[in-house]
Amino acid sequence: MTSRNQQLFELSQKYIPGGVNSPVRAFKSVGGTPIFFRRGQGAYVWDADDKPYIDYVGSWGPLILGHAHPEVIKTVQAVAQNGLTFGAPTEAELEIAELLCTLVPSIEQVRLVSSGTEATMSAIRLARGYTGRNRIIKFEGCYHGHDDALLVKAGSGALTFGHPSSAGVPAGTTSSTVVLDYNDLAGVERAFSQFGDEIAAVIVEPVAGNMNLVAPKPGFLPALRELCTQHGSVLIFDEVMTGFRVGLECAQGLYGIKPDLTTLGKVIGGGMPMAAFGGRRDIMQCLAPLGPVYQAGTLSGNPVAVAAGLATLKLVQMPGFYEKLAARTQQLIEGLAAAAKKHGIPFCAQAVGGMFGLYFREGLPASYIEVMECDKESFNRFFHAMLQEGIYFAPSAFEAGFVSTAHGDVEINKTLDAADRVFGALK
Ligand code: PLP
Repeated sequence: MTSRNQQLFELSQKYIPGGVNSPVRAFKSVGGTPIFFRRGQGAYVWDADDKPYIDYVGSWGPLILGHAHPEVIKTVQAVAQNGLTFGAPTEAELEIAELLCTLVPSIEQVRLVSSGTEATMSAIRLARGYTGRNRIIKFEGCYHGHDDALLVKAGSGALTFGHPSSAGVPAGTTSSTVVLDYNDLAGVERAFSQFGDEIAAVIVEPVAGNMNLVAPKPGFLPALRELCTQHGSVLIFDEVMTGFRVGLECAQGLYGIKPDLTTLGKVIGGGMPMAAFGGRRDIMQCLAPLGPVYQAGTLSGNPVAVAAGLATLKLVQMPGFYEKLAARTQQLIEGLAAAAKKHGIPFCAQAVGGMFGLYFREGLPASYIEVMECDKESFNRFFHAMLQEGIYFAPSAFEAGFVSTAHGDVEINKTLDAADRVFGALK
């Protein structure tokens, strides 16, 4: 019998390119039919056939409190009754801006936008406008949304100028983007010695979460800070994923580095479309209407999204919130690694706060190339077998996973029991 998921996917492909509104949802990397979600509650989602799953994707990061947290839903419902959008300033916008400036160590002023892509695109434009320079440095395997200038992959050669990684991006748009290896300090030093006074910005995920999970080597982020300061370049931490995911002060607090600009998204919108970019006051004041760098948005600071964000940020400030989240995540990855070891599967895992990486290889990867060495076939078999067991991991070997505070002992233990069976069968 054809499942409701399969029927919906077939029909969707008629009306939506590839049947999905964002490519990774199509299960291309793992194969098979994507799951259509009907509802979510806490750590669980239910598919179109009403099968429940323990969810380790959490809508790709925003749902740090789990699905449909009662306080978030109640706030959103109350605010929605007063109107969905005004396109004018509101008091709640001021409240969340003040909160972000208080909680995130480097942010003195902040502007709200509707997606992480908008945040990074605007931060890059602002850095270029502020410095009057064009070149930017990004790192292979870091994803910053689908802005043209950042859809770049490394070319060949020691100092690689970016080539568009998507059709439709003019080569001219990416020719000012230098793509370097994550954690390769010598590469960054070479780039600065060659183009130092032309570099507008270095943009980096302080913990890379878009090539599975790659943690920064000790010294990498401090050296980026130092080089940017020396050369008058703007250091941008893309914390769309790590912001309020790895700790209350975000990754910059965790590693003790102050970037010049920070982009935020995911958690700060509490599951609604909201993101932000902010940082040093002198840089932020270059934005219109004060300065010459244009940036705008019809739905920016949308009241319903701001309400969801405020409700979420209120709860993550509760004492012990991040300790509990990190302990849960650690419990998961240690259990998975132990189960794999028991069955002799080459596998390792690591976590930073509430995000984690699973690797079908010996040893934690430190770069894009090392991530690519993971055994993708084994991951795909693991993914589908876990899905059968009612455990939903990201449908790609190259994505980070997320735990929420709705994941309790019951969910972690169910996951580890399933993993024991699945690793056993993978042997
Ligand atoms: N930056 C990072 C680090 C991300 O992980 C993402 C999305 O996954 C983005 C930017 C883009 O955000 P959005 O999908 O909201 O446009």
